[in-house]
Amino acid sequence: MPSFFCRRCNTLVPPGAGRCPRCGLGKKAVAEDEAIRPEVRRRVPRAKEGQGTFPYPYRPYQERFVSEAKDALASGKHIVIESGTGTGKTICSLVSALDLAKETGKKVIYLNRTISQSDQVMRELRVIAERRKVIGLPLTGRGKSCLFMREAEFEGGIPPQALSRFCEEKKKRTKSGAEGGCGYYANLISSMDGMFENYVARELPLAQEFDDFCADEGVCPYECRKLLSDKADVIIAPYIHVLSEDLREQFLDRIGAGLDDVLIIIDEAHNLVESAREAESFHISVAELRAGDVELNEKGGSDLGHGITLSQLSDAVTDIILSSLVEMPPDRSEVELGRMFLEGELARRLELRVEEVRTLGVNAFNLGQTIAEEKLESGADPTSATLLLGRFLTSWFTVNDKAYVKAVSTEGSGSLEAINLVPEELERFLAACPSVLHMSGTLRPLKQYSEVAGLPKGPVMVTYPSPFPPENRLVLFTPDLNPAYDVMRQDPTMHGRIVERIVDLCNSVNVSTMVFFRSYELMRQMRVEVERGVTRRMLWDIELSSGMFSRAVREFRSKPGGVFLTVTGGRVSEGLDFPGKELEMVIMVGLPYPPPSLANRKLQELYDRRYGRGKGWEYAQAVPALRKVQQSIGRLIRTETDRGAAVLLDSRISKYVEQLDAKRSDDPVAEVQRFFGVRR
Ligand code: SF4
Repeated sequence: MPSFFCRRCNTLVPPGAGRCPRCGLGKKAVAEDEAIRPEVRRRVPRAKEGQGTFPYPYRPYQERFVSEAKDALASGKHIVIESGTGTGKTICSLVSALDLAKETGKKVIYLNRTISQSDQVMRELRVIAERRKVIGLPLTGRGKSCLFMREAEFEGGIPPQALSRFCEEKKKRTKSGAEGGCGYYANLISSMDGMFENYVARELPLAQEFDDFCADEGVCPYECRKLLSDKADVIIAPYIHVLSEDLREQFLDRIGAGLDDVLIIIDEAHNLVESAREAESFHISVAELRAGDVELNEKGGSDLGHGITLSQLSDAVTDIILSSLVEMPPDRSEVELGRMFLEGELARRLELRVEEVRTLGVNAFNLGQTIAEEKLESGADPTSATLLLGRFLTSWFTVNDKAYVKAVSTEGSGSLEAINLVPEELERFLAACPSVLHMSGTLRPLKQYSEVAGLPKGPVMVTYPSPFPPENRLVLFTPDLNPAYDVMRQDPTMHGRIVERIVDLCNSVNVSTMVFFRSYELMRQMRVEVERGVTRRMLWDIELSSGMFSRAVREFRSKPGGVFLTVTGGRVSEGLDFPGKELEMVIMVGLPYPPPSLANRKLQELYDRRYGRGKGWEYAQAVPALRKVQQSIGRLIRTETDRGAAVLLDSRISKYVEQLDAKRSDDPVAEVQRFFGVRR
């Protein structure tokens, strides 16, 4: 490899070296650096004097955002902020927390839904770093960054406890010089002093860049992050790291701080409660139990105590699910189970007492851990049906029944489901954190968010309006159409009238358009007729693998004037930006109320009891649907110069015109054409 010049630290890297010995920057990164940094440098000097670390000229409300957020965090309060697109909430929240962290010596934790969302935070930190020293570190879990696992590529993922014990054993052997240690850990211990710290401080690498850098050096990214965590001013991590007690303890241990020593920013907070419920819900299906037949053939005779074998326990659970399905009314797909149903049935079938049944769950869990570790050690896929069964039973037997609805369902050839209603772990976490900033572009009503997330009493609640010109945005709703299930069933003309309106709107203007259906089912029902009528290039987000989906999005972006048809709340509704001509019109087919389900009905009952009559429907149905609508409309205007029109094909919007800033239209085609300057 020839020599190259590292522009970052003005060092000539000798031939043969893949990266700069001084700052650790790789040759590829040097090339990318030249592409990225000029953009950063162009943006940074625009900040005016007296703005402290804020790196851009203040836009309306940004100065207020920074100071109000800082005040609330400083007084140990939770602050809940709705701040629309263009308000710069990432940079405002970072500056407010970092300024306070500098005064108090605290660390900033920035929580996102997914690790990929950490990239934007790191990019803003790079801009801040032009004005003050700051180190940011995006954290990933061991399962994602362990280089053994990266090589093995196990499909089912690795049970976290099994991987943790496997890793601890490998490290122990490495330290003692015994055989079977971890070479990546050994390389880390013997690596150049300060090289990784230098790299992180200078580069502020994105999560993948950091992993690649470590992999190139043959060093474990997980352990390397652990070493660097206490040096970081900002730790960026997915919510999942704080949503369970175990992971939270490990996380705090990793970053070397307690909850009193951190300032927390929760981004895209409208997703937080749903993510917490998902994390706390669990299930087991007949299909999963049967997939473990090979393991059962080998280990099925293992004694779990009280004269019961693993096979007997697994068979009993399978039989209970199947016999419940037989008794289920044919028009139902799920039925609620009474308290102690599973424990009672297992006790009856296995002729044990309920307390004895409970110990079977614990013993199955311990046996499953051992099986998973043995598999991992031998290089096999560590997925264990025994561990799955044991974890399911121990959780089922111990969760607070008041916070869950337990059901048998037809999913996965029959399954037992424990669906979380009250995310108690999240509530415990938030109650223990003094200073938290919750923010999103779609968080109203803020009181609903504060209540269902279980925030401590008296949070500060603020809304900052969009800084973009209101005349650049047109939001219409049609009073004559309603794609609700029951309305479409009762009115046979509704289907055809909706299809006709979609076709007319798509053909009326030659701008990039997205059509959001309330469900895949509705999209399928209308697809043939829409395809027949629309004369523009169409891309359907239906049965697309993630690779095909990315290609479809790329194609849509690169050739203006296409029509992308998808569902509200799907892969396009959040996280993807379509600035300028990439997206100018949105058509929404129906309000995306959560589909009827046992869990949603129970949630409504719970909210009615907790927050007053009527709140159940509002909090569990209306608010989530409106947030999804706002997210979809929000794809339209991403910059000051963007213009966009949204047409909502649902008369029920009339109840929400204020929240959505929408107006009724009897002729949306004409209004849209006028907005885009098309002559009829
Ligand atoms: Fe994996 Fe080794 Fe890193 Fe442990 S130290 S996470 S086993 S690469």
